[in-house]
Amino acid sequence: MAHRFLSRRVCQPQYSFLKEQSSIPRAFHPQFPKTPARRTYATGESGPNPKPGQSPFKVWPFIAITLAGSGAYALMVNSRTEQIAAPKKDVPVFSPSKVTVLFVLGGPGAGKGTQCANLVRDYNFTHLSAGDLLRAEQDRPDSEFGQLIKDYIKDGKIVPMEVTVQLLENAMTDVVKQAGGKGKFLIDGFPRKMDQALKFEETVVPSKFVLFFDCPEEEMQKRLLKRGKTSGRTDDNEESIKKRFKVFVDTSMPVVDYFRKKNQVVQVIATKSPDEVYKETKEKLEQRLGKDF
Ligand code: UDP
Ligand code: MG
Repeated sequence: MAHRFLSRRVCQPQYSFLKEQSSIPRAFHPQFPKTPARRTYATGESGPNPKPGQSPFKVWPFIAITLAGSGAYALMVNSRTEQIAAPKKDVPVFSPSKVTVLFVLGGPGAGKGTQCANLVRDYNFTHLSAGDLLRAEQDRPDSEFGQLIKDYIKDGKIVPMEVTVQLLENAMTDVVKQAGGKGKFLIDGFPRKMDQALKFEETVVPSKFVLFFDCPEEEMQKRLLKRGKTSGRTDDNEESIKKRFKVFVDTSMPVVDYFRKKNQVVQVIATKSPDEVYKETKEKLEQRLGKDF
């Protein structure tokens, strides 16, 4: 399913973030009407020789010009802010009453993948790893985002959200269709940035909560370097790991904090052995979702 081409939505103009955008303000645009050559207040009436007692400067033309100018400016700003600040509001593709989403977050190497596999084995979840979907898209021969994804991943940076959100939506749509309109997803390693969180919840489906695996950097680094010996991943090396840690603290922790403020975080300490962490995970999920989640 990851091999399905990214749908048109990614390639539509609103996603043309990869292309240059015109930054010429409308007023400076070559096609914008030029100021008339003759100024309206330069009339014979207020010529160089005013009668005694008459002010050499008429006030009303200035007032008229100021009013007209402000009106035109307000109109221009209004039309521009409509275009920029208030794009069409999307409606989520899925309803949360039919499609359940748990976001699974934690630093690189916190054990998200391992614990998701346990949950898939024991409960009826579909596991979607954003990183895995991106790697599959990166390796798809016809992908127009292949090189971009490669560069971002190696550098530990977050791939522009449109790509990742669309990949997730495609994968979820396939599963939901096959399951007769329902789905229960663990979305692993996503959202890693606030814009992704907001976009996903606005256009795909609001999540139930975040399952957050909390692990100290020292432990995560040890695990990642060990994994790097066999994973073949371009980002499991000391230099990339350092960058990924920084992105996690600066960019992804604010996402956890955002959901925490809404009382939507289930936190598990992820330092112990996989079995012990899984035990705590199950207990905490049961508390939140009931015995048969
Ligand atoms: N990534 C991204 N957006 C996402 C998820 C992942 O850009 O929403 C990229 C990012 O460069 C990250 C890499 O994919 O460092 C690896 O993510 P993955 O979840 O596989 O790593 P993990 O944290 O599980 O080690
Ligand atoms: Mg992972």
